[in-house]
Amino acid sequence: MLPLYDVLVLGLGATGSQALYQLAKAGQHVLGVDRFAPPHTYGSSHGQSRIIRQAYYESPVYVPLVQEAYRLWHEQERLSSRELFVQTGGLMLGAAESALVKGSRLSAETHGLAYEYLDAHTLRTRFPVFHPTPDTVGVFETAAGVLFPEACIETALQLAQAHGAVCRLGETVTALAPQKDHVEVQTLAGTYTARQVIVSAGAWLGQLVPELALPLTVERQVVFWFDHGGGQLQGLQPDHFPIYIWETEDTMFYGFPDLGNGLKVAFHHYGQPADPDHLNRQVTGQEVAAIETVIRKHFGIDPIFREASVCMYTNTPDMDFILDYHPHHGNVIIASPCSGHGFKFASAIGKILTDMVLGRPTGFDLTPFRIDRFNTAL
Ligand SMILES: Cc1cc2nc3c(=O)[nH]c(=O)nc-3n(C[C@H](O)[C@H](O)[C@H](O)COP(=O)(O)OP(=O)(O)OC[C@H]3O[C@@H](n4cnc5c(N)ncnc54)[C@H](O)[C@@H]3O)c2cc1C
Repeated sequence: MLPLYDVLVLGLGATGSQALYQLAKAGQHVLGVDRFAPPHTYGSSHGQSRIIRQAYYESPVYVPLVQEAYRLWHEQERLSSRELFVQTGGLMLGAAESALVKGSRLSAETHGLAYEYLDAHTLRTRFPVFHPTPDTVGVFETAAGVLFPEACIETALQLAQAHGAVCRLGETVTALAPQKDHVEVQTLAGTYTARQVIVSAGAWLGQLVPELALPLTVERQVVFWFDHGGGQLQGLQPDHFPIYIWETEDTMFYGFPDLGNGLKVAFHHYGQPADPDHLNRQVTGQEVAAIETVIRKHFGIDPIFREASVCMYTNTPDMDFILDYHPHHGNVIIASPCSGHGFKFASAIGKILTDMVLGRPTGFDLTPFRIDRFNTAL
């Protein structure tokens, strides 16, 4: 007889590690399986830093979710005595009518979040490294900051294991066979059975539920680190330099203060479609030059290239997440919180997935994340 787990979590990255922890904490007999050994650099959750912010330009619907996520990240910091988050404040920059600025204000107003609305002159005075054009405005929120993704994943897996979760790392799942009251999970090493399965496989999600023909596209993304070559420049550290997202007429890019490894900067989207099994990890001189041009134009910094890393976004057509039961199998739950903005929510999503497994109300509006919003033949 195969051991019967309550839940098998397929993929232990940002989402799966959190689900594993919350399920184990809730007393579930859980097995986590990953093809690599998270935290690793092959998926969507590496690169030293992730932005967390509340004045959410994408939609006010995400604000309660991120507030719960903050609470749970702080709880995990306390439980592990590890630094997972640093508060830097956050600046959303663009024209007053840009989607970024308008959307951030809408979320802040809708949820009564504290924020400042700064004109270009004030921006230049308060953040001299930023060089905004005269029509640029900024939405500044003090609550925003940086999560350390590798530490977050490592901590969640440790907490999960301390609560009795079992992990099988370096083991690739090849197929799921849902039955009436359990699911058989085939890996390259054998078969597991569990009453329920959470599929949190990131960029590989579509491959694991091919029957759903989910309209996901995997997008190659490059992040870059730079030193400042112009001699001593004050104000690049987290106490003076907030995380930022900047929408200009022709692009959107974001970045972080110097967390000890130079300034990290990247474009948001504009990447090539990618196959997660054959991702091009080579970064070209042209790619470095493109981001250097943006830095020279928008900052008082002379960028000296330090290093780059390639990562993957898994995008839905509307850029909202998928958090839903499989339409044909209630014992399979699909979780794809990406589209380039999912990391910050992982702690809250781990808890939501646990509530979904246990059939409890989640306390959140998950309608925007349903699978039936896609016009696919289900
Ligand atoms: C460059 C970049 C910058 C980003 N910046 C931000 C940001 O600032 N703020 C933010 O909130 N979000 C950001 N995101 C988005 C965020 O990082 C992702 O939404 C999140 O990490 C996705 O987590 P995941 O659990 O879905 O995927 P992953 O963390 O990639 O986990 C999926 C796991 O499934 C495993 N797996 C896959 N297939 C199998 C299989 N067949 N068998 C076993 N295991 C399998 C993989 O090995 C992997 O460990 C960024 C993403 C990228 C790429």
